[in-house]
Amino acid sequence: MTQSKRDYAPAKDLLKDRAILVTGAGDGIGRAVSKSLAAHGATVVLLGKTVKKLEGVYDEILSAGGPKPAIYPMDLMGARYKDHENLVGALDKEYGRLDGLLHNAGILGERAPIEHHEVHIWQQVLQVNLTAPFMLTRACLELLYKSKDASVVFTSSGVGRKARAYWGSYSVSKYGIEALSATLADETEFRKTLRVNSLNPGPVRTEMRRMAFPAEDRDALATPESIVGTYLYLLGPESKGITGQQFDAQ
Ligand code: NDP
Repeated sequence: MTQSKRDYAPAKDLLKDRAILVTGAGDGIGRAVSKSLAAHGATVVLLGKTVKKLEGVYDEILSAGGPKPAIYPMDLMGARYKDHENLVGALDKEYGRLDGLLHNAGILGERAPIEHHEVHIWQQVLQVNLTAPFMLTRACLELLYKSKDASVVFTSSGVGRKARAYWGSYSVSKYGIEALSATLADETEFRKTLRVNSLNPGPVRTEMRRMAFPAEDRDALATPESIVGTYLYLLGPESKGITGQQFDAQ
């Protein structure tokens, strides 16, 4: 059974003194969640591909009076394990621990039947959506263990829980994310200071959604800003002890 905390409205200092890494922080859901995390006191490390977008989020956080964030440009498509280790080294030096890790970056690839699915697109989608989160998580674990209350959130999808025609590599990558989340949660259950959960945002008005459904009425979709509640809940202290669960943001 999945759970949602869409209406969660915590105190402004919920995430005070927490260092949280968000991938894909420059656009869409990652952008809205990063800004909300900062508005609730978190120091957010903004990881993404397009520096200009990250700088925009950085400026918005500062002008809203949030704690000084950090920008970490990284292309998850080409990143090797060493690049993830370098990131962890920088985080260790700056914060000495990691309190939250939100795997949000993702690509759609193409919507096509398996019969016609481009092989190179399959490989790209698996790389960005599944292999990169595995590498980043593996590299970050020691730093997460240094926090007294750490949370890892993996972004899933409706087609990561029920496969449907034409979602190809995207669906497969999200099933993989669910398995990665459940496996890590099971392996770390004895560690009372780390929790691991998956979160399906549901349909949200972003560029990825536009690519998947170009003809739909976008006004009927939830905005990224309206679905941040479950992210705050999972990355904040009130979800302590909850691990290995599947959440829905809507
Ligand atoms: P967007 O396309 O709006 O944003 C995706 C983000 O991921 C961007 O910031 C993008 O950076 C980043 N990203 C993509 N490729 C890379 C890469 N190679 N290296 C680093 N960063 C990268 O998508 P959404 O906000 O809609 O999606 C966020 C997450 O939610 C995804 O995991 C998606 O699968 C999931 N999701 C979304 C749904 C929706 O309806 N929107 C529904 C279900 C799940 P840049 O802009 O620089 O390319």
